[in-house]
Amino acid sequence: MQTRRVIFVIALLLSFGRDAAPAPVSHDRQLYLAAKNEYDRLANSKLTPQTRTRLESVAERFERLAQEFPKSRYCDAAHYYAGTIHQELYESSREQRSLDRAIRNYRLLVGKYPNGAYAAEGRYRLAMALDAGKGNRSEARQQYAIVAAKYARSDWGRRARARLAALDAAAEQERKQRPPPAVVQTAKPVQEPELPKAVFLVEKTSPPAQPVKPAAQALRKIVLDPGHGGKDPGAVGVDGIAEKDVVLGVAQKLGEKLKSLGIEVVLTRKDDRFIPLEERTAIANAEAADLFISLHVNASPNPDARGVETYYLDNTNDEAALRMAARENGIARDKISDLQFILSDMVQNLKLEDSITLAHRLQGSVVTQVGGRYGEVRDLGVKKAQFYVLVGARMPSVLVEMFFVSNRIEARALATDEYQQALAEALFDGIKKYQDTAQVVKNL
Ligand SMILES: [Zn+2]
Repeated sequence: MQTRRVIFVIALLLSFGRDAAPAPVSHDRQLYLAAKNEYDRLANSKLTPQTRTRLESVAERFERLAQEFPKSRYCDAAHYYAGTIHQELYESSREQRSLDRAIRNYRLLVGKYPNGAYAAEGRYRLAMALDAGKGNRSEARQQYAIVAAKYARSDWGRRARARLAALDAAAEQERKQRPPPAVVQTAKPVQEPELPKAVFLVEKTSPPAQPVKPAAQALRKIVLDPGHGGKDPGAVGVDGIAEKDVVLGVAQKLGEKLKSLGIEVVLTRKDDRFIPLEERTAIANAEAADLFISLHVNASPNPDARGVETYYLDNTNDEAALRMAARENGIARDKISDLQFILSDMVQNLKLEDSITLAHRLQGSVVTQVGGRYGEVRDLGVKKAQFYVLVGARMPSVLVEMFFVSNRIEARALATDEYQQALAEALFDGIKKYQDTAQVVKNL
């Protein structure tokens, strides 16, 4: 009681203090309010050539504010309004110039102020402009997917999911309308009726750009996710070796090898930059990848801890496991449960068995191959966990913890190009083995 009264008195004093000496209205605030007033006035009037010109100048005022006061708290709103004005102008005039300016403002908005109040709608509008305006479906899909994952419970999240479903339906429709593969039609008439030659002819007539590679049939596209990056170094161990650098090296080497097999590879990051967790699976979903493989390096307070472990997503309802996962992912427990609830339809589609198989193939391959070359590798096994980075991925997904950066021997090995190459090769063989199993199952 006593404390509450003291706090009340302090609050009262503070509020008097504010009244007595009002903060001077800053220049950026003045500019913003003036532009906003003008926009509100124009928003309800008919779109005549005159109002067009005035709207354009208001958009310019918003843009100038963001340019001249890059630290102003009105910047995200300024980009948002400049973007929406240009988008409105585009919708009535169909001038590409307006569309480009709208897109530019939305990109600045979501790039510089990703957590601001205008970010959700800004990103949704960016996706819309890319989708309907530019016909850039793949990036539109990616942006919608980020909105759907990041703002799952908001109206924008719901709208983005609806747009994604519509894009899926449109793509499916196009697939159905496309003529069947031209292999048979373009095959020259078989002159000699012997069977072996006919088979050979059909094989030869397949397009040269896509040589017949049975091994590449099942896996079309793989998203590799080098963990952490940019401001987030991940685990930092012996000699200052950082997880983010090791995993990027391995991902790049693995990517090259997979490409040689004719598999399309997408890296969630190609360099040392920060990518929010939810964007990583959003990329995989947007790319409609066949596999999602997140690469990490372990660390422990115990310097003797070493070895390799691989995780797959388990949509567990066990309260203790959820709390543990929340702690490891550094996010609130209730957020995980929300995500789990919202994405449950996606998670149900998860090929859990495929994820488990993939995890075992990768784990086994690293343990035996890297172990064969560099001495015994401690096998910490395949485990289930609810890593945030795996939640929401719509394809078999695993997370590999490759050795311990906190262990003197393993850290120094991890830092070398040679060892990273060996790891990439082992993972590559694991993926190949997974693919062979998947094909056997498919053919049964
Ligand atoms: Zn990590």
